Amino acid sequence: MTNSTFDLTGKSVLVTGGNSGIGLGMAEAVTKAGADVCIWSRNEKRNKAAVEKLKLHGQKVFSLECDVSNQGQVEECFLQTVSLLGKVDACFANAGTSWLGTPFHKMTLEEWHAIFGVNIDGVLFTLKPALAHMVEQGKGGSIVITSSLSAKFGMPTGEHYAATKAGVTAIVRSIAVEYARYNIRANAILPGWIETNMTAPLFDNDKFREKTMKRIPQRRWGVPKDFGPIAIYFTSDASSYHTGDSVVIDGGFSCF
Ligand code: NAP
Repeated sequence: MTNSTFDLTGKSVLVTGGNSGIGLGMAEAVTKAGADVCIWSRNEKRNKAAVEKLKLHGQKVFSLECDVSNQGQVEECFLQTVSLLGKVDACFANAGTSWLGTPFHKMTLEEWHAIFGVNIDGVLFTLKPALAHMVEQGKGGSIVITSSLSAKFGMPTGEHYAATKAGVTAIVRSIAVEYARYNIRANAILPGWIETNMTAPLFDNDKFREKTMKRIPQRRWGVPKDFGPIAIYFTSDASSYHTGDSVVIDGGFSCF
């Protein structure tokens, strides 16, 4: 892709949780648009398969085994990412984890912390070195966090998950204000019901799927590639005046 607003040639992008689902959909779109990419996830086999797929677009693609809830691993992986890509222009803090379905009054502290460890601490650990790097480079950058509609709507048995996803929308707004002076923008993406490994048990449940489908004006669940265009936009300079936002991508679910 050349001479286009959305040509990402020369951009370097980090996507956490990039070996599957929404993260892979975003990574695929930005590599297709010309960016070099490093994906972080824990599962080596899935990382390798994702790299093979992403490499088909001819860009530099790397994967690192990283548990984002482990600060030491994240710091080490960020250094490796910069040495592999040369720099990071856009950082997608997308890795996230789901919950067990325990009623709130029976939820253990362990369950609570397991979700916060990935969805909030993992975001903090990822963004700290990313922001430090962007500030040091002095060329601005783009931070994107994957939130969820649970930031706005009730999620039965998912109070901890919802709290983390609402939390990241607040984090994004604060980063947007704090780092605007460095030309760094920060935004959140709020997916609706999307077919991924995380939601497979729900999507495969006919009763549940049909119930949600009636609430989606477009009458389909989203798929990972629905997140490609927004990833390209937030990586590109086209989004240079767009910050502090929470962008909903849900086929109309939240306005019905
Ligand atoms: P997915 O296909 O299961 O992808 C989750 C990704 O996160 C995988 O790459 C997984 O890789 C990685 N991951 C999980 N825990 C991790 C950890 N501790 N450290 C590093 N990587 C980790 O599910 P998805 O639906 O695409 O989820 C992506 C994001 O979208 C999540 O933040 C999720 O909360 C959010 N979201 C999803 C939906 C939906 O309907 N699917 C809706 C709203 C928001 P490994 O297992 O290999 O580590």
